[in-house]
Amino acid sequence: MRRRRNAKIIATVGPACSTEVMLAKLFEAGADVFRLNFSHGNHEDHKTRYDIIRGLDARFGRPIGILLDLQGPKLRVGEFKGGRALLVAGRKFRLDLNPGLGDQDRAPLPHPEVFRSLAPGTDLLLDDGRLRLKVGKCGTDFAETEVIVGGELSDHKGLNVPSAVLDVSSLTRKDIEDLNYGLELGVDWVALSFVQRAEDVAEARRLIADRAGIMTKLEKPAAIEHLDEIVALSDAVMVARGDLGVELPPEDVPGIQKRIIRACRQAGKPVVVATQMLDSMVHSPTPTRAEASDVATAVYDGADAVMLSAETAVGEYPTESISMMDRIIYRVERDPLYRKIMETEHHDPEATAADAITAAARQVAKTISAAAIVTFSSTGSTTLRCARERPSVPILGLTPRAATARRLALAWGVHSVQVEDLHSFSEMVTKAVAAASHEGFARTGEKIVVTAGLPFGTPGATNILRIALVQ
Ligand code: PGA
Ligand code: MN
Repeated sequence: MRRRRNAKIIATVGPACSTEVMLAKLFEAGADVFRLNFSHGNHEDHKTRYDIIRGLDARFGRPIGILLDLQGPKLRVGEFKGGRALLVAGRKFRLDLNPGLGDQDRAPLPHPEVFRSLAPGTDLLLDDGRLRLKVGKCGTDFAETEVIVGGELSDHKGLNVPSAVLDVSSLTRKDIEDLNYGLELGVDWVALSFVQRAEDVAEARRLIADRAGIMTKLEKPAAIEHLDEIVALSDAVMVARGDLGVELPPEDVPGIQKRIIRACRQAGKPVVVATQMLDSMVHSPTPTRAEASDVATAVYDGADAVMLSAETAVGEYPTESISMMDRIIYRVERDPLYRKIMETEHHDPEATAADAITAAARQVAKTISAAAIVTFSSTGSTTLRCARERPSVPILGLTPRAATARRLALAWGVHSVQVEDLHSFSEMVTKAVAAASHEGFARTGEKIVVTAGLPFGTPGATNILRIALVQ
């Protein structure tokens, strides 16, 4: 089975799609990577889903990526008398460490690190930005605020502090437990939430090493200020527009999305556009025109993947949401303007042999109208360099490692195939031809472009380009 598009689809797994029947349907409709959202559900739920997805791998004979999304230091208020309170604009409202139930004048906020980072004048946002408070007097265990935008506030609603860099790591104790659990299961990607600084990514790297790819979610203004540094330390990046659009004014999000995609494409790191892409499909079988346009924009910008959250996790139309995304991507990628944009936005190769060879492969494939480019890579790094070129033909990424094949399910244009270890260059060419024809990428008489590295087994040592005829 092969996809007829380059941009990939990530589907969040939740109660609406957790059975084997549903997950198989979502894969068939086009989901390339499944996201296990550890903000919800317990370990047993996630393990059940994990096992089902790994079973689909075998059943469909295709590598499927699994992304573990850590909750991160999500801030929440405590509880209220009666579960809720009405905050009135212009009135005072106090937040403190006292665990007693809240009311219209105060609420518990069990996060000492927040109080440590506040100053008079700091804005606090509650419940996805629906309510706004301004800090007046504050100390290490309290903040007196004025309600700027009021409304009802209920138990455990989220709190965002856009302007402050909080004195917390992006990995909480829960995250570390979840991370160890997920790594033990064997997830392919780990997403880090609420990263504030490059050091947060470095800390995760020390724990994860190369056991999974690290995807940094950009959802804090502070992280955007260190964009290049964070991209350099990450294996992939997510434009997490949900929280980003709470912490920043909505009008800032589109430009930042483009900036992030550009930085990632320059670096050759997979980039995901996420949240509310087809939001109305949670309750409706068709999206709004604006949503279709939003997905298309991410594809025209050259994102590696687009993501569905509530649409597949809790929505009424999970399969339809994936099919819709699949059709939008397919249509955009056949627009001559799309190809033109990919060519003009093409980034110059970096000064390495692997980059020079993959850039040449893209040009050669175009000139001779090759059917595909075939890469060999144990770690996947050369295949990602090829994806960075955004070639006009599919990339067949051959790898001896199942984990690499699954990780590459996220990357633009890559159809990964696990092969046995290879021992000679001629064997490599034979394998490339066989794979291209077996996977339906090239027919007899067509040419493919093969890139490889000699000697074998040296990561990133790509230094050979060969044109092979499919016979
Ligand atoms: P979340 O992250 O769904 O885990 O909040 C994505 C986002 O904030 O956009
Ligand atoms: Mn988020």
